Amino acid sequence: MMDKRLYSPKYVREILNKYGFKFSKSLGQNFLVDGNIVRKISQMGDITKEDYVLEIGPGIGTLTEELALNAKKVVAVELDKALLPILDETLKAYDNIEIIQGDILKTDIHKLIVEKLEGGPIKVVANLPYYVTTPIIAKLIEEDLNIRSIIVMVQKEVADRIVACPGNKQYGSLSVFVNFYTHPEILITVPKTVFMPQPKVDSAVIELRLKKELLEVNRELFFKVVKAAFGKRRKTILNSLSYSELGLEKELIKEVLEKSNIPLEERAENLKIKDFIKISKTLAPLDIY
Ligand code: SAM
Repeated sequence: MMDKRLYSPKYVREILNKYGFKFSKSLGQNFLVDGNIVRKISQMGDITKEDYVLEIGPGIGTLTEELALNAKKVVAVELDKALLPILDETLKAYDNIEIIQGDILKTDIHKLIVEKLEGGPIKVVANLPYYVTTPIIAKLIEEDLNIRSIIVMVQKEVADRIVACPGNKQYGSLSVFVNFYTHPEILITVPKTVFMPQPKVDSAVIELRLKKELLEVNRELFFKVVKAAFGKRRKTILNSLSYSELGLEKELIKEVLEKSNIPLEERAENLKIKDFIKISKTLAPLDIY
């Protein structure tokens, strides 16, 4: 174990200077420099010596170190090659960490779990790079991976959108998408002051509890309907779905909505997941796709 912990701002500055590291804004590099938050994230993941953990974007290894202290093994996928020599130094005292250089979006996570994490089930814990938050979350929840829990830090505004309920201004296609696959919850909000460099906005740690059973529906069609419905969110559902990417005429949409018992003048932001399911199920047998 290290005598000085990696979250000390002084140490972070020292090590970055030593390697001439420059933060890349486009890679979403905002590193944690607060021991309390680092510990809290690991505690929220309820990491124990039985656990196999996947971290996305270890940075200089601050959270990785805390996870490794508690877990059986941590695999961390980092895109930025410039961080590899730094991670070699900062995490050299730990024999239960494996760093993989690569883009998590291009990583075969299923294979990684089988080859590096004993097949799982694994826990995912990460302070996500914000520019790719949604695609990373999508990959984690859509790919039917052997994941036990997901605890990730995201921008507060994204967290609010994810947990928003119908009728709420923040409710949109992201809320429907994430709530289709998981039970999302905001665990804590995190001030921007705990990062180096400080981002412009606050963050939140969220938990995504994967649903064991998903609602039965043609998913491609369902998400197409959701996207079209929120594409013009100020319009009525009749107007937003008509002549949308669904490519259907108003008369047909009217018929579908009536059959699904959805008022024509309702707005997408007031529709529940089960309403979008009803619409998709009424559309499906029409065999237009
Ligand atoms: N975990 C560190 C911490 O909390 O201090 C760093 C978090 S920082 C918000 C995000 C990290 O993700 C950066 O190290 C960045 O280089 C890395 N990253 C960005 N895009 C990535 C991608 N597509 N795949 C893997 N890592 C990525």
